[in-house]
Amino acid sequence: MKTCLIVDDSKVIRKVARHILETLDFTVAEAADGREALEQCRLSTPDVVLLDWNMPVMSGMEFLRALGTETLSHRPKVVFCTTENGMAHIRAAIEAGADEYVMKPFDRETLHSKLQIVGVA
Ligand SMILES: [Mg+2]
Repeated sequence: MKTCLIVDDSKVIRKVARHILETLDFTVAEAADGREALEQCRLSTPDVVLLDWNMPVMSGMEFLRALGTETLSHRPKVVFCTTENGMAHIRAAIEAGADEYVMKPFDRETLHSKLQIVGVA
């Protein structure tokens, strides 16, 4: 089974994403901000990270930059989540190491196709 770490400060979004990912046969872990996500990646690096942009403590962008300096067993794929009015962030996220992006709110088909693009589904 592939593993996905959902990183989002919204409990509702984590719950929705978890449900979708479990129907796609992923083992799911959750983190509420970038710092928690980084700690989890050190303990057990997931195959893919679903990453929110706006979070307290450590944002998605700060997480991406920090991830780049970590020595991990492997580099997780990163699918970055943004909203329609956050389109300007996409290029910055890709430059900082994100592999793909998905627009919120996403449905099962959209998320599945993005996970296929990055090679984890
Ligand atoms: Mg957020």
